[in-house]
Amino acid sequence: MKIAKVWVLKKHFDGFPKTSDFDLKTIELPNLKDGGEQKLLLESVFLSVDPYMRPYSRRVMKEGDIMIGTQVARIVESKNPAFSVGTFVVGNKGWRTHFISDGKDLQQLPSSWPESLPKSLALGTIGMPGLTAYFGLLEICKMKPGETVLVNAAAGAVGSVVGQLAKIGGCKVVGCAGSDDKVAYLKKIGFDEAFNYKTVKSLDEALRKASPDGYDCFFDNVGGEFASVAINQMKKYGRIAVCGAISQYNDSVPQKGYYVQIPMIFKELQMEGFLVTRWNNRREEGLQALLKWVVEGKVKCHEQVTEGFENMPMAFIGMLKGENLGKAVVKV
Ligand code: NDP
Repeated sequence: MKIAKVWVLKKHFDGFPKTSDFDLKTIELPNLKDGGEQKLLLESVFLSVDPYMRPYSRRVMKEGDIMIGTQVARIVESKNPAFSVGTFVVGNKGWRTHFISDGKDLQQLPSSWPESLPKSLALGTIGMPGLTAYFGLLEICKMKPGETVLVNAAAGAVGSVVGQLAKIGGCKVVGCAGSDDKVAYLKKIGFDEAFNYKTVKSLDEALRKASPDGYDCFFDNVGGEFASVAINQMKKYGRIAVCGAISQYNDSVPQKGYYVQIPMIFKELQMEGFLVTRWNNRREEGLQALLKWVVEGKVKCHEQVTEGFENMPMAFIGMLKGENLGKAVVKV
């Protein structure tokens, strides 16, 4: 019998999540049986902390449930010939150190994954956030060479890939982030213009200075006030990919918004929300493309690694506060 540690949602978040909203517990896992359904024992090696956990906790969880989330896990015991011990997979089993699976819900890493490449990237640039950037830019923004792309939360898991893919696609890229170190990082990885949205005197002026002609594409990870200002600087026929609204996830009382209809009409904009799961049937295509760019050095990856399963809530809260550069992950 194996003892697994798990983090449960003790209390639904009210405003900004607190460490006291979580409880660390242990559960017993049964032994694997020959011929049974439960044929694999896995240990989480890296766990992801993502913004979606904040809004989804309300939508899909009840108090006492194990926190939702994905991990890169290693198979430590197998009674399924399709999976050998030592293989790394991506699971969607929540915040647990160990779990049992029948194998059907596990995703293998792409077979061409180089040994030297950190497997944690399967939770970031070569995983769900990278796919979000890829499909959001290609299918929603429909970026074309020579266009100008704006992205916020640009130094994060999704944003940093958005900017680099837009550069590969021949666009000018403007990004903003919440610290000077993040801005320096954006310039290092090839953003044409970058600024700290927390310290500029006027967001409107900063956006205008970065691209006096306006923006063809806006990849919005933040929503709220930022989006309200940016929409007025879209070019005619501009496209807005509504990817995330992190500036609103922790609101107990919904913010009163700006009304978008006037710029939408007179600039003839397209604005579309999306979930990356829409392209699950093209996952392999996206992962292969991202893996190739990473291996070729065309897409750089940064990870914010927090050590220790016991620090999961801290890593999650830190990410929501903007403490991460690149993808926030926890190493068990
Ligand atoms: P990040 O790695 O970007 O981490 C979150 C970042 O958001 C923080 O580092 C912080 O950066 C920024 N942030 C936090 N609060 C605010 C705020 N009030 N205003 C502006 N920025 C803020 O996370 P991800 O890359 O994983 O996710 C980015 C966005 O994409 C999220 O909104 C997420 O929900 C969304 N998403 C959507 C998907 C979809 O299918 N539609 C899939 C995956 C992600 P800073 O220091 O710059 O403030």
